[in-house]
Amino acid sequence: MNESVKNTDLIKHLTLFFGGFLLFTDVFFLIIGIYYDMPLIRYLIYVKLLVNTTNIFLILKKHYLVSTVIIYSVIMAMMVVGVISMGTRPAFQLFALGMLTCISYNGYLHKRILKKELPFYLIIVIHVLLYAGVYLYARFNKPLYDVPQSAYDILVVFNSIASFSIVILYVWFFHNVAISSEEKLEKMALIDNLTGLYNRHYLLAFLDHIEVKSPEDRWIAILDIDDFKKVNDTYGHNCGDYILHEVAAIVKQTCKNCIVCRWGGEEFIILSKKQECDLAVLEKVRQKIADEEFVFEDKKIHVTITTGATQYDGGMTNDGWISDADAKLYKGKKSGKNKVVI
Ligand code: GH3
Ligand code: MG
Ligand code: MG
Repeated sequence: MNESVKNTDLIKHLTLFFGGFLLFTDVFFLIIGIYYDMPLIRYLIYVKLLVNTTNIFLILKKHYLVSTVIIYSVIMAMMVVGVISMGTRPAFQLFALGMLTCISYNGYLHKRILKKELPFYLIIVIHVLLYAGVYLYARFNKPLYDVPQSAYDILVVFNSIASFSIVILYVWFFHNVAISSEEKLEKMALIDNLTGLYNRHYLLAFLDHIEVKSPEDRWIAILDIDDFKKVNDTYGHNCGDYILHEVAAIVKQTCKNCIVCRWGGEEFIILSKKQECDLAVLEKVRQKIADEEFVFEDKKIHVTITTGATQYDGGMTNDGWISDADAKLYKGKKSGKNKVVI
């Protein structure tokens, strides 16, 4: 699945889950408000039920940004009303901690959807003031309702679970986003878009790595499509791209245990260990490509390749190794093409 679709799905599911979770908490707080006779909490929940139900529609219509602001506002309102009604003992103030993750999620959505930055410092200052405000209020004012210990017990457990769940959920979300974005970047940096093969950066990094680990038992080969310019000139650039893609597939399929990369243009490099893949495979690749009839928009096209290959010779640098294979490729081109020079 496309990465950006994956991330958009993640946004939808997370926001939807959160909206649904809020409706569930509304029902819970409504029962508490009715059972322990706390009209202020009840009235707030009536409003919250209305707002949160509307919010689900907003999420389904993909208004994630507005929806997250609503989620944030109703939770903070619940925190304030909770502390006014019952003081700090039922731990409504924990919602403020949970909401820090909601703020960073909102910042993420702002950046992705509106390409704008949230004024984070301002928001955090308001947030901390709100948090301190409810504490100060509770310090100097008696709770509005006098409820039995059981109400505090139930609410402490519920509010703690709700707040921690929110934090865990958002951390999980950002964890997923970070990993999928890194994977995407890695792929973009090392894989050639057209052929799906490794690119030049990958090969050079790999060669640097094996330079340290004795490359004596390896060979390298450069393959170049013969007269490829003619293919482009005769059948068009799209056809050229198609041939590149198909040739790459044949090379990859034939040299299963080798590292195959697109070195640039219509050139490929194969790198392998002798034990894993014999140099004879190169003749097989040449033959297969020469025998293949490529069909593009009803046109039948034949291409050939020329290959130069070099076994590692002690003391070679990576550049020297590749240059040696390139020199053999050149020799093959000069002597009639469609051949493997070792
Ligand atoms: P030779 O047999 O000597 O290799 O001849 P050639 O025509 O294959 O070589 P030349 O270097 O003259 O031309 C290579 C052509 O490959 C030119 C360039 O337009 C084409 N090419 C390079 N990259 C791509 C690509 O990504 N897509 C397409 N369609 N063509 C490409
Ligand atoms: Mg070339
Ligand atoms: Mg060529």
